[in-house]
Amino acid sequence: MALELTIQKTQNPGHLPADESGLGFGHVFSDHMFTMDWSKDRGWHDARIIPFGNLQIHPASTVLHYGSEIFEGMKAYRNVKGEIVLFRPEENFKRMNRSAVRLGLPELPVDFVLDALKELVKLDADWVPHSEGSSLYVRPFTFGDDEHLGVHGVSHARFYIILSPSGNYYKEGINPVNIMIEDDDVRAVRGGTGEAKCGGNYGASIRAGNRAEEKGYTQVLWLDGVERKYVEEVGSMNIMFKINGKICTPALNGSILPGITRKSILEWLRSQGEEPEERRISVDELIEAAENGTLEEAWGCGTAAVVSPVGHLAYQGKVYEINKGQIGPTVHRLYDALTGIQWGKQEDKLGWIVKVL
Ligand SMILES: *Cc1c(COP(=O)(O)O)cnc(C)c1O
Repeated sequence: MALELTIQKTQNPGHLPADESGLGFGHVFSDHMFTMDWSKDRGWHDARIIPFGNLQIHPASTVLHYGSEIFEGMKAYRNVKGEIVLFRPEENFKRMNRSAVRLGLPELPVDFVLDALKELVKLDADWVPHSEGSSLYVRPFTFGDDEHLGVHGVSHARFYIILSPSGNYYKEGINPVNIMIEDDDVRAVRGGTGEAKCGGNYGASIRAGNRAEEKGYTQVLWLDGVERKYVEEVGSMNIMFKINGKICTPALNGSILPGITRKSILEWLRSQGEEPEERRISVDELIEAAENGTLEEAWGCGTAAVVSPVGHLAYQGKVYEINKGQIGPTVHRLYDALTGIQWGKQEDKLGWIVKVL
């Protein structure tokens, strides 16, 4: 049976805070959310937009005990033309379906869900912030909710999309971050869930993140889970380097999250006639390049920050400064290129923008 979307509007509409400077990330939520249910017998059903609110959940629900959860993250932007747009949203839903397959959760009907997202953003359009660099963060998630404790394939699941107006990631300008290379804990191994965007990956990464924070570092740079020899990615971002004039990033190897920002940067560079490399990058190569001055720039890339320059890299008790701790020209150029497209300041030559309103 074809899915149909019903809309139940809130009786108590809220509003975006007048002062957008205190929004931060992920604290404020819009009036409505989208949800639909899935069961093995019926497939997806009861697709609806409803007032934002708490969930009722059975204490034995699968997600609470066995971590059957996947999520996505993207943004709706109010661009300089006054339109509200999404950046490559079908990429997020396609990735979510790959995550679903890995976790044994149901795949989404991508076209339907994309239409539902557009309806939701239209309904809550007043929640898209106006200040420069701000956006409406979109958080889709699916979880298993069988109401018993047996470990079996999921036969009931729910999907939600919630919206959170969020402030400029770079309120105080683009400042390079300090990152610690983690050589004890690992994030993922090939064959595990590293490629999937699932909550469990994050749960297991918190300890290393806390240790780095205690020492004054923003995030950790993960190494491969087997040899702890090859660079993989940063906490919630992929990583890129400019070594000896060449841009390179770790190749997707089965344990790295395939970021859409990563993919977009590579595609954009190639559209400019450049040849960024996707390859294995060992921590030894990186440290050597840092020591002999050929590590020109390093930056993380992800939806939240777009690009985030790395000013210092710590490894086994030593600290390496990159580009004098300053933001470099490549990071600048990539930031301007991607945000230029997202904010409608530059022509969308690669067809990445989906207009909502
Ligand atoms: C989401 C995520 C990224 C970045 O992906 P984008 O699609 O660019 O936002 C990188 N690494 C991890 C672990 C992530 O969860």
